[in-house]
Formats: sequence, C-alpha cells, structure tokens
Amino acid sequence: MKPAATAHPHNPWLAHTVRIVNIASAAPGVFMCDLVFEDPAAAGEYSYLPGQFNMLYLPGLGEIAISISGDPDARACVAHTIREAGNVTRALSQLPVGASIGLRGPFGSHWPVEQCRGRDIVLVAGGIGLAPLRPVVCHLLTHRDEFGDLTLIIGAREPAGLLYPSEYEAWRAHGIDVQVTVDRADCSWSGKIGMVTNVLDRIPLRDAGQPVLMTCGPEVMMWYTVQLALGRGMRPESLFVSLERNMNCAIGLCGHCQFGPEFLCKDGPIFRYDRVASILKVDDL
Ligand SMILES: Cc1cc2nc3c(=O)[nH]c(=O)nc-3n(C[C@H](O)[C@H](O)[C@H](O)COP(=O)(O)OP(=O)(O)OC[C@H]3O[C@@H](n4cnc5c(N)ncnc54)[C@H](O)[C@@H]3O)c2cc1C
Repeated sequence: MKPAATAHPHNPWLAHTVRIVNIASAAPGVFMCDLVFEDPAAAGEYSYLPGQFNMLYLPGLGEIAISISGDPDARACVAHTIREAGNVTRALSQLPVGASIGLRGPFGSHWPVEQCRGRDIVLVAGGIGLAPLRPVVCHLLTHRDEFGDLTLIIGAREPAGLLYPSEYEAWRAHGIDVQVTVDRADCSWSGKIGMVTNVLDRIPLRDAGQPVLMTCGPEVMMWYTVQLALGRGMRPESLFVSLERNMNCAIGLCGHCQFGPEFLCKDGPIFRYDRVASILKVDDL
C-alpha cells in the first residue's frame, strides 16, 4: 500500500510519497537511503536546513524520525543515513530501489550555521552522529570563504564504523581539518586511537575566531565534549548539541518528547547547550 500520493506541502500531518532511488551500505548495520518526491510540486517546495529531520513512514509498520544527511543545496534527492535498530529501520533496510514510502517534514531546529559567519567552527561527531552534521559540512564546503578555521573531529568505535570515509580527503582539500579517531584499531588502521575528547583537547582554539562547537553522538560523548570545551574557555552560548529522543508527532502536540518547557521535536533536536544541560543527564523520556 502506498501512502497518500499528493499531500498538502504545508500540512505537517500528511505524508508525501517518496521513492527510494539509491540504497547503499554505509557501515555494518548502517545504510544510506536517497529519496525523491513522486509529486514534482512537493519536490519543488521542499527544502531543509542542516540538522533538521524527516518522519519516514512505512505503512503497517510505523513512522520514525531520521535526520537529513545530504547537501541542503542539492535538491535532486533527500539523503538519510540509517542505523538498523528495530522494526521500522530493519524493514526500511530491506526495501529495494524503486519502493515507495511516506515522508513528512522537514521538522525541528537546525544547526546555527548562518549565525557562525566569520567565526571558527569545531564539529565533533561520534558514530552515526556524523549523519546530522554532514549537511553542515556540505554547507561549509559550499560557503568556505565565509567562515574562519574549520575542524571536524570524527570518532567511531572501530574503523569499519566510520561514516563517509571516502569523502574525508575531499573535505580536507576544501579547507576542513578532518581529524579521525577510533576506540579500537585493527590492522588496517594507522590513524589516531582514543576518544574525540582527546583530539578536542589538542586542537588550537583561537579566542579571536570566537569558536562555535556543534556536537552530535552518544549523549555521554556530547556531555564530556561540552565540559572539555567549557574548560578550554569556550562560551556556553557557543556550544550546540543534538538531542535525539523518542518522538511521535514531530510538531510538539503529542507531548511524547516534552521535557519541562522544551519539546525536543520542535524546539530541538538542535539546542544551545545551556538550554538543555539538565536534559543531557536524563537517560530517556
Ligand atoms: C530527531 C531524531 C533524528 C534521528 N536521526 C536518526 C538518523 O539520522 N539515523 C538513525 O539511524 N536514527 C536516527 N534517529 C533514531 C531513530 O528515530 C530510531 O532509531 C528509530 O525510531 C528506531 O525505530 P525502529 O522501529 O527501527 O526501532 P524500535 O523498535 O522503535 O526501537 C529499537 C531500539 O532503538 C531505540 N530507539 C528508538 N528510537 C530511538 C531514539 N530516537 N533514540 C535512541 N534510541 C531509540 C529503542 O528504545 C529500542 O531500544 C533519530 C531520532 C530522532 C528523534
């Protein structure tokens, strides 16, 4: 069964039909999935900002939040990077190219790239946390001259878990200092071993560059990353984290992801750290 073929672009409840045009393995248990809108009008109206997410709908199975991991300036298709976790993600991983699913979105807050013009930026990604930061990388590459020093620290448990490794050289060639580290090496690995915080501790941070930090990954990783950044003199208002908790409606109505005054789906998933410091210490909602 196909979801509604023509949904009103401004009705956040209705799913657009999108077709899978590419599906590829990204790492063990992780795959990339590119989607195009069946309805050209919906495709024309769709745009997103780095860090926003879509709700992907498989009829009969359910709907899940997935960050958009493509280039916001490339309109041909909408890219997602998905870790197989349970029913919906597993079923998605088994769909063939050409299959149709439903998509609502984009939803949520975004990384503050526009406000970072002229400043240094440090991105810290752990595991699949690089997926929601990849649109930031794409944006920075397209607008490289508008920013100061750019550093991207990528961590993974093991080398096979690194996302998009074939892109790192191109990112470096365009002026991003890409530093990669793994928790556990194997014989294929000659790079850094250790946590992202070990790397963050050593990179230069120029006061004059008014550095901004954006981090996404396991919450414990983000917690230590932020503490280290604060310890190195970065300002609390320059630190941004992504909180990915279970959510349902994605528009702040069902209350499923409410935490105090914040609805993680509409006020997040990207937050300034000082707004959500207390949430980061809570396991799940
Ligand atoms: C804003 C947002 C963006 C996200 N972006 C991505 C993304 O880019 N790529 C990706 O692979 N996943 C992403 N997720 C997580 C994704 O939504 C869940 O993995 C998915 O809902 C699991 O659905 P399922 O039916 O396959 O598994 P379920 O059967 O629902 O769950 C399987 C296991 O995963 C856990 N789980 C479910 N949802 C979450 C969640 N939100 N956070 C942590 N654990 C969860 C469950 O507790 C359970 O242990 C995002 C979540 C949010 C809220």
